[in-house]
Formats: sequence, structure tokens, C-alpha cells
Amino acid sequence: MKSLSALAGNEPAPRLLPVHPGCCAVCRRIEVGAGYAPFNLHTRDISRIIWTCDAHIPLAREIYTMKPNDLTEIEQDALMDAGDAAGQYLDGLQKTDIATMTEAEWREFLRLIVDGFGKSIAMRLEAGQAPF
Ligand SMILES: [Zn+2]
Repeated sequence: MKSLSALAGNEPAPRLLPVHPGCCAVCRRIEVGAGYAPFNLHTRDISRIIWTCDAHIPLAREIYTMKPNDLTEIEQDALMDAGDAAGQYLDGLQKTDIATMTEAEWREFLRLIVDGFGKSIAMRLEAGQAPF
């Protein structure tokens, strides 16, 4: 039960969402508390919940129901896509030795890999790609 001072706005509002410091099930970036789990009327089990970032809430059902082997193949393809994007960046820099990269170049290289992986996974899920 809320105290009168809380109702008057003297205390911070309670969090509406529980804290789940985890990763988005699609892109592996930080999730925002958007969970998905199909509710089974027979077992009433929602024990396995996946979490997503804002951008990938619409893909939660797709990735939840994906078979692990299919997901592994999509992840491997996404890693290659991310590597291609990062490789193109290195080509643009005309650097092949990461030891010669500045800190800013290194951060951009890593950002391209992380973002490229998530974007590729999302793109493949949106396209309904399931490797068979
Ligand atoms: Zn995401």
C-alpha cells in the first residue's frame, strides 16, 4: 500500500517494470524489460521468458519459437555480415594491422561488428529466413 507522501509525489514512483539486466534475444544489446513468453493454458507455465530491446519487440515471437540449430546458422551468417561491414571499414582506413588503429577507429570497428550482428539477425528474422 502506498503511503500518503508517495501519493503526494514526495517519493520516487515505483518502477513499473522489473529490472532485468540482460541482453536482447535478437541483437544481444541491452534489453529494456520487454519480455515475451507464450502462455500455455494447460500448464500455466511462463517460466522461460526472453527479453528484447525496443527495436526488436516485434521479433520476440519469431526468435522464441526458432529451433536452436536454425538460430545457430542465422547467427553464423550474421557474424559474417558483421565481419564484412567491419572489414569494409578497415579497407576504407587502409589498415590491416589493428595495432595501428587509433582508439576512435578501434571503437568504430567494434561498433560495426556489434551493430552489424544485431542488424543482420533482425533482417534475417524479418525476412523469415530459416535455414533448411
Ligand atoms: Zn535487440
